[in-house]
Parts: sequence; structure tokens; C-alpha cells
Amino acid sequence: MVTWAVVVAAGSGDRFGGPKQWMPLRGRRVLEWSVDAARTAGVGVVLVVPLGDLDRNDLPLVDSVVAGGSTRSASVRAGLSAVPSDAEIVVVHDAARPLAGPALFAATIAAVAGGAAGAVCAVPVTDTLKRVVGSDVVATVPRDGLWAVQTPQAFRAGLLREAHSTEPDATDDAGLVEALGHVVRVVPGDRRNVKITDPVDLAVAEALLGGGG
Ligand code: C5P
Repeated sequence: MVTWAVVVAAGSGDRFGGPKQWMPLRGRRVLEWSVDAARTAGVGVVLVVPLGDLDRNDLPLVDSVVAGGSTRSASVRAGLSAVPSDAEIVVVHDAARPLAGPALFAATIAAVAGGAAGAVCAVPVTDTLKRVVGSDVVATVPRDGLWAVQTPQAFRAGLLREAHSTEPDATDDAGLVEALGHVVRVVPGDRRNVKITDPVDLAVAEALLGGGG
């Protein structure tokens, strides 16, 4: 099936302290790992970068580069607008997860090709979860059945476009497709697929890549 990837890399990296997508990580920049993984999975790639980075002369080789928006969802929409209309599956990936390998892309895409409306990679939650108000614990949340969801996330292209048609805002795309009433399937994620949010995450990613693990 005709499959395209939207790699969103248009965040400002406020929590990281700067634009993390351009940071070096074991010989490549953070966003290049994701672009390469998507390409290895054999799909067309739309890369979404901050407006001010559109004219950089060191952008990775992709099919299309577009400017992102002020929220992650707006950036996904910007990417979707550059996905050809004949795409049947669209897989969305955060450039902030450089350790997602081609196998995760392939697994989510295969689930959708096999009939699912959407598929996310995820891992069971291992921490004990508390609801906290101020500095007081107000509840312990049973973690049975709770999964931490990662990207890549693949969808039937028409459903993803429909989910974004009202310009909603959400922390992931699966939630928007779920809100349309569709069942999103979980495929096994990878605990090494860390999200680079603050500098310690980059150190973890470097260690994971360097240690053969
Ligand atoms: O900010 P956060 O780490 O949750 O962002 C997740 C992903 O979404 C990152 O890869 C980031 O570059 C991207 N993003 C974006 N446009 C925004 C905000 C985030 O492409 N306005």
C-alpha cells in the first residue's frame, strides 16, 4: 500500500533548552536518525521543521520539507498537507525519538495494512503512578492496563486527514482517531525508544547507541 511518513521536528525544544532536533547524536543529528529509519522502512518522507529552518542548506534528503506550526498537531497537519493524495497509509513520527528503528515503523504500518484503523507502538507502564496536587499525593492510579505510547503511529490516511480536519490539538494522533470512534491497535514498542525531552535523555540515547544495546 502507498505509505508516507510525516516526521515532525518543528518543536522549539523549550524543555531541552534549545532545538534538540539538530543536536549531534553518535555521528548524526537527532532528526537524521528518524528520517533514516523511515527511509529504511521504504516510505516517502515529509519532514516538518521550524519555519526559520526551511532554508538551511544542511537539511536531510527527504521527499518534501515543510514548515511546522505552533503546536505538534499543527505541525502534523502541515506535514499531512504535503503527503500525496494517493497515500493509503500515513505514519507519524516524532523526531524527538531518534531510536525508533525501521522495525517499529514496519510493525505499525503492517498492522494498518492488515486492516487496523491505526496502530501505535507502546510499552506497559512499569512505574507506580500517583495523582499529585501541589506536593500532595491525592490518588494512586492502578497501572493495570496502562501503556506508555510512543511513535511511530500509523493510520489509514483518510482517517488521519479526517481526524485533523477540525484542527484539533492533542499530544498524539491516535487520540484523535480514537475520538472518531475507531479502534487503534497496540504493537510492541521498545523501551530503548526514548523521547528526548531534556539533556539527560540525549545522554541516555547516546549510551544506548554506543553500548550495543
Ligand atoms: O514538544 P514535544 O517533545 O512533545 O514534541 C514532540 C515532537 O513534536 C518533537 O519531535 C517536536 O519537534 C515536534 N513538534 C513539532 N511542532 C511543534 C511542537 C512539537 O513538530 N509545534
